[in-house]
Amino acid sequence: MPRTTPRDKAGQAPPSKPPSEPAIRAERSVPDSSPEETLGDREQRLARIVTQLDTDARYAMGSRRFPGHVSPTDAIEIAAALADELDDGARARAQKAEQQGMQIACDIGCHRCCTVVVTAYQPEILRIAQFLEQPENAAEKKGFLDRYSAWRAAVGDEVEALPQTMAQGQQAEIDRLHFALWRRGALCAFNEGGICTIYPVRPLACRNAHALDTDAYCVPDPPGGKRPTMVDFVPMNRFLNKATRLLHAAHNAIAAPGQRHQQEALCSSVFRLLTSSAKAP
Ligand code: SF4
Repeated sequence: MPRTTPRDKAGQAPPSKPPSEPAIRAERSVPDSSPEETLGDREQRLARIVTQLDTDARYAMGSRRFPGHVSPTDAIEIAAALADELDDGARARAQKAEQQGMQIACDIGCHRCCTVVVTAYQPEILRIAQFLEQPENAAEKKGFLDRYSAWRAAVGDEVEALPQTMAQGQQAEIDRLHFALWRRGALCAFNEGGICTIYPVRPLACRNAHALDTDAYCVPDPPGGKRPTMVDFVPMNRFLNKATRLLHAAHNAIAAPGQRHQQEALCSSVFRLLTSSAKAP
């Protein structure tokens, strides 16, 4: 597992294609509970799951149970593939912005938006917990656990209301809670000295940050009430819709019936996973 790297949303990797269909990458080899399954078989099976998850919007909405089997390891793999595709899209978007004389402000060391309480889906949460359970990431895990209490005290008990509020779907209340938590200024417990310690496995919400030109408005109460300017990049918008739907469908597919139909606060849910007997796969 590579060591964590600083934030570099401005596109250090070579330009690449805009995202299209989420794909399962050939180079991945997460262990499976079926040791006899070859990598090729596994990719084909995961590709089939992704296709099936996308056949009915009710799998994401939680109003219909996905009939197939999705293991937690499968869900992690799907989250990883979607994250890779999103990164491709983010690079293409940054390139497009640059061609039009604009510059993405998010860059190494910028952690302005890391005081937002990030929410994530269960496949992403499992992926992060799995990353932190790797022996080579023991320092990152310890750092997170050490910082967690201060983060939890700073955000307060209201953070626990987030999944419930999102489940109720009342946008005005979701927005109120989101900004109330952001105003507390609690730096994400995964952030150490401005650096994201789970950078390779951070959730989609963090991968999609792309303020234009300046980070001055990436605060809950920006000057003049002005919000950051974002690039409207249609292929990315389409991909994000699809990726969110797939993640949500995978999230519901691995949940116990009747449970966890909404995103959860990232730090709290990873903390619970790391400190409970139910470990990441
Ligand atoms: S997970 Fe990483 S990028 Fe996302 S808010 Fe936390 S420190 Fe920032």
